Amino acid sequence: MRTDLYQGHDYYLLDELLTEEHKLIRETAREWVKKEVSPIIEEAAEKCVFPRHLLPGLGEIGAFGPYIPAEYGGPGLDQISYGIIMQELERCDSGLRSTASVQSSLVMYPIWRYGTEEQKQKYLPKLATGEMMGCFGLTEPDHGSNPGGMTTNFKEDGDDVILNGAKMWISNAPFADIAVVWAKNEAGRIQGIVVERGMEGFSTPTMHGKWSLRASDTGELIFDNVRVPKANILPGRDGLGAPLSCLDSARYGIAWGAIGAALDCYDTALRYSKERTQFDRPIGQFQLQQKKLAEMITEITKAQVLTFRLGQLRDEGKATSAQISMAKRNNVDMALTVARDARQMLGGMGITGEYPIMRHMMNLESVVTYEGTHDIHLLITGLDVTGLNAFV
Ligand SMILES: Cc1cc2nc3c(=O)[nH]c(=O)nc-3n(C[C@H](O)[C@H](O)[C@H](O)COP(=O)(O)OP(=O)(O)OC[C@H]3O[C@@H](n4cnc5c(N)ncnc54)[C@H](O)[C@@H]3O)c2cc1C
Repeated sequence: MRTDLYQGHDYYLLDELLTEEHKLIRETAREWVKKEVSPIIEEAAEKCVFPRHLLPGLGEIGAFGPYIPAEYGGPGLDQISYGIIMQELERCDSGLRSTASVQSSLVMYPIWRYGTEEQKQKYLPKLATGEMMGCFGLTEPDHGSNPGGMTTNFKEDGDDVILNGAKMWISNAPFADIAVVWAKNEAGRIQGIVVERGMEGFSTPTMHGKWSLRASDTGELIFDNVRVPKANILPGRDGLGAPLSCLDSARYGIAWGAIGAALDCYDTALRYSKERTQFDRPIGQFQLQQKKLAEMITEITKAQVLTFRLGQLRDEGKATSAQISMAKRNNVDMALTVARDARQMLGGMGITGEYPIMRHMMNLESVVTYEGTHDIHLLITGLDVTGLNAFV
């Protein structure tokens, strides 16, 4: 088993802008990842299983709802801290970060922002510890980039609603205790509704055959006349803006997380370039290999600066959805490029599970697609700068 030697890379001394609390949070997350996850992650990805025994540990390091206030069981941290934790998780594996992102931004966030006091008290403290796990159902078989076209719907029936439809590509679905599901009411307005495992007519079949995010469980959500109490509807907001605001929070976490994957690939390639000799010298001495490393750290550093500033804007409540789109798109694309170059630097060894690069590269193919594809985020930036909508 390979020892995880990662120490971080901070070319522009951004650490000087972090508080002591930020650094402590990072250290705690990094040490936990090295001890608990790094030794098992290759095998988990190879076997295509999510290591569920990690859930309480994720709760303990504050990875579930980092910014949820203490009154609801969360650590009450700022947005930079949230980003730092996501980065440390994805430095190890995008699937690990996905599990935490979904729980934090797509399950806890909508309950916290749009739920009743009873819903918050009932769900948030257990979600914060990992005792209860959730998933987020927006995407449907026929509606991915265009979620507003969804057909999942519910009709009122006394104190309940009857939910019908199907969701697809849902992270954490196979083991989630609850699902925050987005469905249309009788007026055609999208609303969030909490569906609990065990409700009759609700099933969560696992999706198989993924070559990406293999250490993260993905499934479907099937609703066949599921009777859900009206008390489970999130009343605080309706319309597509409600799920999109959750995606803003998750995409922000991805922007930080993708840098983590890139850093791990860079770190691995840099170390290898000093150890591997060909033609009687370390391959790091060859100009072509140095070009790759120099470009990697340049792009990583640009992404770090962009994302740190985005974190400040989030903390000040000023970050726009379009700014988040730009960071998500840029950083995931950057991480993919870094992963591809790093893989080449390891030659044949780069394709093996001996090193993490190929796993990161395959994972990032999901990250570049979910939470808005690379092209959809480009169109969001295009709309923002021109005022002209390419989606209609
Ligand atoms: C591993 C994984 C986990 C996921 N987890 C979740 C989850 O937890 N919850 C959830 O709700 N969803 C989840 N998703 C779904 C994900 O968000 C969707 O896959 C994504 O939004 C894209 O939708 P689609 O796959 O249907 O592709 P499509 O929307 O069919 O897009 C196909 C292609 O067409 C392009 N395209 C679409 N519209 C336009 C346009 N107007 N202009 C130009 N190009 C366009 C896209 O960019 C893409 O390249 C997950 C996906 C994956 C792969």
